[in-house]
Amino acid sequence: MNGLRLAKQTWAILLLLALLPAVAGCGLRGAESAAPEANEPKGKVYYTYFDTVSYVYDYAGDSAERFDDRSAEVSHILKEYHELFDIYHEYSGVTNLCSLNKAAGGEAISLDPRLIDFLLDAREMYDTTGGEMNVMLGAVLRLWHDCREAASADPEHAAIPSEAQLREAEKHTGIELLEIDVEQGTARISDPLASIDVGALGKGYAVERAAEYLEAEGAAGYVLNVGGNIRCIGTRPDGSGWVTAIRNPDRAAEDFALRINIQDTACVTSGVYERYFTVDGQRYHHIIDKDTLYPAAFYESLTVITKDSGLADALSTALFCMPWDESAALAESMEGVEALWVFPDGEQRSTGGFAAYAPEP
Ligand code: ADP
Ligand code: MG
Repeated sequence: MNGLRLAKQTWAILLLLALLPAVAGCGLRGAESAAPEANEPKGKVYYTYFDTVSYVYDYAGDSAERFDDRSAEVSHILKEYHELFDIYHEYSGVTNLCSLNKAAGGEAISLDPRLIDFLLDAREMYDTTGGEMNVMLGAVLRLWHDCREAASADPEHAAIPSEAQLREAEKHTGIELLEIDVEQGTARISDPLASIDVGALGKGYAVERAAEYLEAEGAAGYVLNVGGNIRCIGTRPDGSGWVTAIRNPDRAAEDFALRINIQDTACVTSGVYERYFTVDGQRYHHIIDKDTLYPAAFYESLTVITKDSGLADALSTALFCMPWDESAALAESMEGVEALWVFPDGEQRSTGGFAAYAPEP
C-alpha cells in the first residue's frame, strides 16, 4: 500500500474526465448540435439511461458516418440494459428486473439470456466481496430510497428509516432468495418481501457490454462515460491515454487533487457526495453497509481501476463498504485491480500499483 497524503484537502472528490476542451464542450452542448473539425474528437451525449448522463467520445478520427453508426449501437446497448435492469418500470415486450421483483414469492419467470448472465455475475460478486455487494439488499435499499425521495419532495420533514424497519427488512435480503435456473432460463425471488437492486453494478456492466461491441468492431480511441463509469477502449491514435481527475471538494476549484492517466481500462468511483439527503444537518448517502444497514462511513470516496467496467463498478461499491484492512486486502488480492481510498479527513491511500496511473503526486 502507498499512503499518500496530498497537500490539498479532499473531503469530497469527484471523478471527472478531463477532456479536451472541444470535447467537453460538445459533450455538454449535446452531440446532435456539435460539428467538430476534422481530426477533432467527436462526442455524443444521451440523457435517458440509468438516471444519468452518458457520453460516447471518439478520438480516433472515425468518419462522421462511422461514428454515428457506432455511437448509435452503443446507445442501443445502453438502452436495452437500462430497460432490463430497471426495477421501477416495466417496458412493453420486456421482462425485466421490475417484473422479477413483482413476481417475488410466486413462480419462476423466463428472462432474457442477457439478464440470466448478469444475475449469475451479480451472484458471483456477492461471493467475491464477502456479501458486501449484495443485489438482494433491495428491501433495505428501498427504505433508504423512499426516504431520499420524500426528503427531496419535502426537505423540512426529511427522516431516515427506523432501526426497527431496517432490521425487519434485513430479514429479506439473503442472496439465496434469488434462484436462477440456467437450463430453463428462469429466475425467481422466493420471498415475497425480498427484492433485487442492481444499482451497484448495473451501469458498469452495461458499459462493459458496449465496450465489448466497440472492441469487436475493432474500434480504438473511444471513451465511454456513463455517469462517471469511465471505460477507455484502446488508446489515442498517438498511443497515449486519457486523463481523469479527482477533484477538490470545492466544485468551483479549477485545480485537481489527483490526476490519473488511463488507457484501455475502466475507472469507476463511488462517493458519499453522489446521492444523498440531509436530516438534522446530517448527510445520508446512498451506499449502504450491510452490517449497520446505514450509509457506509469508512471513506469519502473510492476509485477502482480495472479493465472490466462491471467489475470496477461492483468493486467500487463493495470496497466502499469495507473497513480499511479488509478493503485493502481484497483489492490487493485481485489481479489487475487498483484502488484509491479517500478518507473523511482527506487522507488518500492506494493499492501498490495505483501510482502507475497517477504520475504526478
Ligand atoms: P452510483 O452507481 O450511484 O454511482 P454505486 O456504484 O456505488 O454508485 O452504487 C450505488 C447504488 O448501489 C445505490 O444507489 C443502491 O442502489 C445500490 N447499493 C447501495 N449499497 C449497496 C450494497 N451494499 N450492495 C448492493 N447494492 C448497493
Ligand atoms: Mg458501484
